[in-house]
Amino acid sequence: MLATMMYGAGDVRAEDRPEPGVLKPTDAIIQLSASCICGSDLWPYRGSNPITAPLAMGHEYCGVVVEVGSEVTSVKPGQFVVGSFCISDNTCPHCQFGFQSSCEQREFMTGAQAPLARVPLADGTLVATSEMPSDDLLPSLLAASDVLGTGWYAADAARVQPGSTVVVVGDGAVGLMGVLSAKQMGASRIIAMSRHKARQDLALEFGATDIIVERGEAGVAELKKMTRNVGADAVLECVGTKESMQQALDCARPGSMIGYVGVPHGVEFDGQQLFFAQKGLLGGPAPVRRFLPQLMDLVLTRKINPGRVFDLELPLEDVAHGYRAMDQREAIKVLLRT
Ligand SMILES: [Zn+2]
Repeated sequence: MLATMMYGAGDVRAEDRPEPGVLKPTDAIIQLSASCICGSDLWPYRGSNPITAPLAMGHEYCGVVVEVGSEVTSVKPGQFVVGSFCISDNTCPHCQFGFQSSCEQREFMTGAQAPLARVPLADGTLVATSEMPSDDLLPSLLAASDVLGTGWYAADAARVQPGSTVVVVGDGAVGLMGVLSAKQMGASRIIAMSRHKARQDLALEFGATDIIVERGEAGVAELKKMTRNVGADAVLECVGTKESMQQALDCARPGSMIGYVGVPHGVEFDGQQLFFAQKGLLGGPAPVRRFLPQLMDLVLTRKINPGRVFDLELPLEDVAHGYRAMDQREAIKVLLRT
């Protein structure tokens, strides 16, 4: 089969690989009709994480189960499933507490930018639909696997409430999903920080009420002006740089939470500054499994359309073009047809 491998910074190839098979009795093999490229795939692509061995890329997935190991009981061949990018047993103390992304048996999904993928711990990781979803819902179901689940977690971690004033730092796919999530959670004012027209338009479509185009201190000053110098009730940090984190902290009002889901690169915190600022931080890899049943239901009943975040669709053999387009910010998020 044709699958995506990364050999080094800027070097992504679709190449012939062996088909995956069941390795452990808790595995499932699924057939993906679509896959996608994640913003976090760009960190190794840009050389931020050194690559010591070729990487089987792709961790966002949904599709039809084709084979299960002997111990799998909750899904069976022929069922349509969505899974989290974090593999979890969904039974350990951290899973029970709703933090499946810190599961005692946590693994990170790999190899999903391919037509077939192996999902470990299938019972704890996958959620099946009751019937085969219609094709037009596939992009939105695929989004639930990571990008939507991560935006949702950012809003959940930031404790967005009905009536909240929310700031979203970052206009990538996750930030846009954060806007959609804050809207679903009843925020009355959602301020998206973005300087790109296409992304601003999508943010407004997803429920943003205001756009701030300035960055850094100028962006914070604009936000303060909008909130009578108080700051936001909840802040979603969806980038992961030193500058974006500082912007998020400075936008948050005392007593509020910052949900941060951009993988931090070069971010450092000053203990005393945090102490006197009285702002909370909760982030990390999203426990998507906690939210999956609710998110899948919102998609299947057509209450949300997160699949709109895909603005470029390519066949898998053109995956290198897809990475380039996201790296150059020519595409928000790329869907790959396998
Ligand atoms: Zn667990």
